Amino acid sequence: MIFAGLGCPHGCDFCCTSHFFKRPHVRLLPTGDDTYRVIDRYLEINPGMSLAIINEDFLIARDLATRLRELVLERGKALSIFAFATVKALSRMTPRELLETGIDGVWVGYEGKRSGYANQQGRPVEELIPDLRSHGITVLSSMILGFDYQTVDVIREQLSEFLALKPTYAQFLIYGPTPGTPFFERVVREGRLHRELAENPERYYRKCDGFTAMVRHSSKTPGEIEASQRECFETDFRLLGPSVLRSVETWFEGWKRYHDSDSSYLRAKAERWAKEILKGYPLFRVAKRYGPTPEGTVRLEAEIKAALGPPGLGRRCVLLLAHLAAAWTRFTLRHDRFQHPKLRRLTLRSSRWALRPGDLGSLRVDIGRALRSTIVKLEGALDQSSARRLAAGILNALHGNDAQVRVVVAEGTQAMQEHLRILGKLLARERHRVSVVIPSAPETWA
Ligand code: SF4
Repeated sequence: MIFAGLGCPHGCDFCCTSHFFKRPHVRLLPTGDDTYRVIDRYLEINPGMSLAIINEDFLIARDLATRLRELVLERGKALSIFAFATVKALSRMTPRELLETGIDGVWVGYEGKRSGYANQQGRPVEELIPDLRSHGITVLSSMILGFDYQTVDVIREQLSEFLALKPTYAQFLIYGPTPGTPFFERVVREGRLHRELAENPERYYRKCDGFTAMVRHSSKTPGEIEASQRECFETDFRLLGPSVLRSVETWFEGWKRYHDSDSSYLRAKAERWAKEILKGYPLFRVAKRYGPTPEGTVRLEAEIKAALGPPGLGRRCVLLLAHLAAAWTRFTLRHDRFQHPKLRRLTLRSSRWALRPGDLGSLRVDIGRALRSTIVKLEGALDQSSARRLAAGILNALHGNDAQVRVVVAEGTQAMQEHLRILGKLLARERHRVSVVIPSAPETWA
């Protein structure tokens, strides 16, 4: 995993990552050189490692992508990077350029045709996703269920359009409100969060999983939305087959296109794909027996064998174990065993002195967050009690971490010297972590 950036300017109304950082994109690895340096360090550990870049829209920074591509081509090591991207950013590069940047897998949000999110602008997805696949780039695409305009028929219609794109992997999640997002604020304001969740925060957090309909829909019951979600997953599997085979199929598309390419980098990439495809031989036997699309599997297997040759001895031995592994998976799925790690719950209780927005007597406190600091905006009048409570809140926010607090005092905020002295004295031990922007008036602040 490479943590290359945080936040996203597109601001989809349900997206906590985007709204937590108030929409600007924060580059943790600012340049292509920085990014390649981290890639190189991972490859020193394992030259064949596949990497995932965590960055909400990795390709949004053109300078970074351009430089990274130069470095990837210059070094010539065939990479396998999975990255998050938007239709908008992907529309600015050709699939070949994407591969030459080391990226052979992307997550693209499909969301819903009428969702209207900014990340959807660019090439039509009907053109983009099949194009990426035909170059060997796997696509994980996600669709959201539970928009107001989605009746059962609309969902089915969208699902068939979505499946026609043949994404390598598909995700269907229910439109869920996360605190801090505009969607959450809207449903709370409109009283549409289901009552038992609105009244019970613990229950709310337990259900905030993408598989629970939490918001009152204009025409569907929660049960109907959740049933639609199950139908989406089942239809995806029935029509397109297991994702693991879809990956092999996509890599094979890439191999066919680039194994005799004029680019030495892309020929190396095709060799890497061939190795991955050969590892998939044991899958065919199982997929033919248990999978929903045996004819497609037979065809794919024959095509791959004709191009890359039959499996070697080692692979044939693994073939024998494939049925055993499939039977074990079947058992664990059917009996819901070993599916998820056990839940370990850690509750962090905040004291009544926690730094929160609100009124401390006549002092209005507003809290904002920047990457490394908490911003505390003050307005009104500071008195003895609010000075003490404010100091306690700030000390609490600084406890057990290396964060910083920036206090911004609005023009005209009243304070007497003695109360400022109390505040200063209480915060003295953390003075190197607290900065204050003072107003020009009244003069007591100076
Ligand atoms: S494009 Fe993705 S990361 Fe960006 S705001 Fe929308 S959902 Fe969030």
